[in-house]
Amino acid sequence: MRRKLVIGNWKMNGNRAGNTALLSGIIAGLNDFGADCAVCVPAPYLAQCQAELQDSPVAWGAQDLSVHAAGAYTGEVSAAMLVDFGARYVLCGHSERRAYHKESSELVAQKAVAALAAGLTPVVCVGETLEQREAGETEAVICGQLQAVLDVVAADDLAKIVVAYEPVWAIGTGKTATPQIAQEAHALLRARVAQKNAPVAAGMQILYGGSMKPDNAKELMAQPDIDGGLIGGAALKAADFLGIIQAV
Ligand code: PGA
Repeated sequence: MRRKLVIGNWKMNGNRAGNTALLSGIIAGLNDFGADCAVCVPAPYLAQCQAELQDSPVAWGAQDLSVHAAGAYTGEVSAAMLVDFGARYVLCGHSERRAYHKESSELVAQKAVAALAAGLTPVVCVGETLEQREAGETEAVICGQLQAVLDVVAADDLAKIVVAYEPVWAIGTGKTATPQIAQEAHALLRARVAQKNAPVAAGMQILYGGSMKPDNAKELMAQPDIDGGLIGGAALKAADFLGIIQAV
């Protein structure tokens, strides 16, 4: 049985006082939940998460990392720095990074490798745009994005990866993929991993992301290949985030 995992992606939101209120609200509401749970926060707030979450069941992580270990890379944050602040997860290749920072699938794969080398769990994000879906390219796009990672991650490390299917047209738009559309994509991704390693594919957590809310989370997470959620907007309010966790 795969455990469910719910990760909040705060994106570029938050401030110290607001974060404390949000995190304490999440912790206070987390009774008897059946999922793993984490927040991926802007890098400056990792220390705050470490201080405020360390004795809680909520893990924390970052939204991006450098492929480089150290050195003259102004503005970059290394995997070791994330580990230094207790991070467990790091998003790799979120569609906003792919779109606004021109991250290629090859770069995203290198980021996953850098994360794994430091002991972090990379959450590799894949997803098609509306144009790609309408052109019938969904499978080629998402499996291609995943394949870049499968090509470079060592067999032993594959089991340590989390994948997130996030159709770009569903992110922040209020247009959630139907459970059927999401399940179909998740099954494709799992089958692709199975081509490389069937037992790893069977155990891999594949999260859905894109306008997941308390009122649609249950049906999405009831699908056989959907193992949780990567939550943007609804992760910024404790009640909404808890509502999704409780839907597990
Ligand atoms: P959303 O974002 O839940 O606001 O659609 C999800 C994400 O971008 O990870």
